[in-house]
Amino acid sequence: MPCYVSHLECSFTGDKYEAGEVHTVSASGKPLLVSYDLDRLGAEVCREDIENSPEPGFWRYSPLLPVSDASNRVSLGEVVTPLIELESSADYLGVGSGSIIVKDESRLPTGSFKARGLSLAVSMAKELGLSHLAIPTNGNAGSALAAYASRAGMTTTVLCPDNTPEINTRETLAQGGDTYLVNGLIGECGHIIADGIERVGWFPVSTLKEPYRIEGKKTMGIELAEQMEWQLPDLIFYPTGGGTGLIGMWKAFAELTELGWIDCPMPRMIAVQSDGCAPIVKAWEDGVEFAEFWENAETEASGIRVPSALGDFLILRAVRDSGGFAIAVSDEEILRTVAEVGQRDGFLMCPEGAATAAAYKSAVDSGLISGDETAVLFNTATGLKYSMPEVTSRVDKNEEIEFEKFL
Ligand SMILES: *Cc1c(COP(=O)(O)O)cnc(C)c1O
Repeated sequence: MPCYVSHLECSFTGDKYEAGEVHTVSASGKPLLVSYDLDRLGAEVCREDIENSPEPGFWRYSPLLPVSDASNRVSLGEVVTPLIELESSADYLGVGSGSIIVKDESRLPTGSFKARGLSLAVSMAKELGLSHLAIPTNGNAGSALAAYASRAGMTTTVLCPDNTPEINTRETLAQGGDTYLVNGLIGECGHIIADGIERVGWFPVSTLKEPYRIEGKKTMGIELAEQMEWQLPDLIFYPTGGGTGLIGMWKAFAELTELGWIDCPMPRMIAVQSDGCAPIVKAWEDGVEFAEFWENAETEASGIRVPSALGDFLILRAVRDSGGFAIAVSDEEILRTVAEVGQRDGFLMCPEGAATAAAYKSAVDSGLISGDETAVLFNTATGLKYSMPEVTSRVDKNEEIEFEKFL
């Protein structure tokens, strides 16, 4: 299996680093991104090879991934996630002659798109001979890491803020992660992990402090392009925490363009946050390159409760270069959208996914976008992991049944 990685590159300074070695961040503390020899790749692999690939899920994009030996792939049965058009919610959300299509990432192992990134991170950890991984997490990243690392026979330590949804901490433990609750924020969990590197000898898999999770997330963009017959939508709405997915997709589109596999206008990339934690939106509005730390971050959409993102400048760059924008919605709008889309379309979104639908509605209302365009939204996890309405209606089998109430 040929590997087309040429080197790694600091996303801020452009300094080059050797492939095939263990890396975290660059010397300037910024994310490292993987570069490929796209000339050679383009000469040896064509789009049809990808389309005809027998590999399951995102492994069909292996030429554009960093794992050099197929035996190092750690897989739990990844699938190509479906594109589902929201039809019955369209009027409510303000769709005109265009459409809203949801890429439903909830179908991946561990019920969230974190599987893409952590599958790649663990595969690369295996390839590089690492054996103990550690992660600070608000939930889904920890459970995905635990699952893939256990599958590969590695040890995982997972540190979660103590307000992480219980279902995430429980599933992490159930999937073999040594799981701890920390009375602090995700950044503080990250500091503990950084401090333990020498003492414990673990390898940190924090968002963008490890170069390969983003390569996994990148596959959302390639997969979307292939599913749309190598076209892209007008708009992409992405629930943005650390921003790996948004940066990864933008990287994918650049690579596909350079390969000549796509030749279409780029989508406008829209970063969606909750107004309870909106550092990227504030930086976008202020027109600055880096985001400030967001104090007292709070939102039901725990996957996007990220007060400070190492890749802030990369998110903002992709948003600006694409002619997109960053937008915040309230938790009230998010939860209303979960309910509306669930009842109208029978589609149970996670709050993070629902934030993108709420942002779509708000952006149509304020004229930022037109309802006549094609928009793709990302439902990044299964709604089953979050709180759902309680059933209070009862039937008493011992009383005479009032059938009128079922009408
Ligand atoms: C992690 C997460 C996000 C944010 O993803 P990033 O790519 O890090 O911005 C969104 N939704 C859910 C459900 C998540 O778990």
